[in-house]
This record gives sequence, structure tokens and C-alpha cells, in this order.
Amino acid sequence: MAQFDPKNDATQPNQTSPDSESSSTCGSQPSLLNEGASRRKFLQMAMGGAVAGLVTSTGIEFMEFVAPSSALAQSTLTPEMALKELLEGNKRFAAGNLTSFEQDLAILRNHTSEKQQPFAAVLACADSRVPVELIFDQTIGHIFVTRNAGNITTSEIIASLEYGAAVLGTKVILVMGHGACGAVDATIQGKEVPGQISALYPHIQPAVDLAGPDLEATVKANAKIQAALLRQASPVISGLVKKEKLLVLAAFYNISSGVVSLLK
Ligand SMILES: [Zn+2]
Repeated sequence: MAQFDPKNDATQPNQTSPDSESSSTCGSQPSLLNEGASRRKFLQMAMGGAVAGLVTSTGIEFMEFVAPSSALAQSTLTPEMALKELLEGNKRFAAGNLTSFEQDLAILRNHTSEKQQPFAAVLACADSRVPVELIFDQTIGHIFVTRNAGNITTSEIIASLEYGAAVLGTKVILVMGHGACGAVDATIQGKEVPGQISALYPHIQPAVDLAGPDLEATVKANAKIQAALLRQASPVISGLVKKEKLLVLAAFYNISSGVVSLLK
């Protein structure tokens, strides 16, 4: 778990093109997705100094895209296989046997991020101790990640996860709480907080009513409640679940051991 290097160059390209990131992940139509991804590729190439001769009088022409590097064949995965891949990645992470960084670097070197086929989606807390791709030992393009404090199911989160499942084809959605969650703890305490922080409380309060005041029990109850909400509130997601094309599960991440466990 101590192998993460914050100075790793793999993080740099993501920081240089935030605007293209949003257009490539949040477009409502595949054509927008492709356009945003093309732009991101161009930006990455520009950053790497690899765009000489590509700008013409009519605009920008792109070189033929390099085929995406080998990734999990998303379309052949069942929801159970997608879940297994996530949990096996977490085992590698917890054991300190990460494989994803070398693959990330190869992907970035080859400029092949114009296409995404994530096999899984995760709704996690915004907490900085919960780096989602890292804890599942997954590379760029494999996990569709949504986060907010308390991993709560809001309409924007539902919209994002519907996009992940219905458009991008994710096979499993994990709603993942974690140990020592500040958002859940604040809701248990019910203290006055500045700004709009207390807007989180009503979403988490049902878990406090069910399992509070024990923090870990409440975090776990909250993950299960948010996963159930997701299944119930979205006909798109519940429809895919009924057809056995999607699993929606609650999970708990132990920030001390690094182990993710499914919650029944
Ligand atoms: Zn948290």
C-alpha cells in the first residue's frame, strides 16, 4: 500500500486538460463523447509535442488513432466476472502487488485514451484516503468513478451512473463506504457546520436512525441504503439489474487494511 508515488508522471496529463475531461465523460451522446475524446487526445499530443503538421487551414486534422492498448474485454464480462475483477484487484492492492501503474504509463505513452470502456462503476466518498482506481489496482479507462462526501445517491449521481451503465456498459456498481468517514460522523454528531455542509445530513440520517451512533455500523448501513436507493430510484438501473446485465452492491473499504468487503 505504500507503493503509491504522488510524483508519478502518470498523473500529469489528467491535470493539463480538465475541460476536455468533462466533455468526454459527461456528454449525453456518443458523438459528443468521441469529439471530446478526440480533443483530449489532441491536447495530450500537443502537450507531448507530437502535433507538428496536423493543423491545416480548415482546422485540425488528426493522425489515425492508435488502437487502444489491451484492456479487459468489457463486452464479454458478466456482472459476476466484473465484480471478481474488482475484488481481485483489491487483493493485489492490499497485498502490495500493484500492476496498474505500469499499464497506466503504457496507455499514456501510447496516447490511447480516446475511448473508454469501464467494466465497473463505483460511488465512493470524496475522502482523500479512498483513491478508487488504486485500491482496486485498475488502470485508466477501467472504472467509472463518482464521488461525493458520504457516497450519497443524489439525482446527479444517478444520472452519472445511468450514463455509465446504459451508455458505457458498466457491469457492476459498487456503493462504497469507508472507515472513519467524516461525513457520516458529522451526521451522527449533528453539529452546526459552516456553509452548506449540513445539506449532506438528510441523506445520511436514515443510516444514523438505523445503526447509529456506532460510526462503522452507520457507514455500512449508509452504503446499503444508498445502493438500495440507486436500485429503486432509477428505472434504467433497475431494468438492467432485472435483466441480469448489472449488479448493484454495497461495500465497505477498511482504510487500515486496504481491504474492500461486500455488504450483504
Ligand atoms: Zn467519507
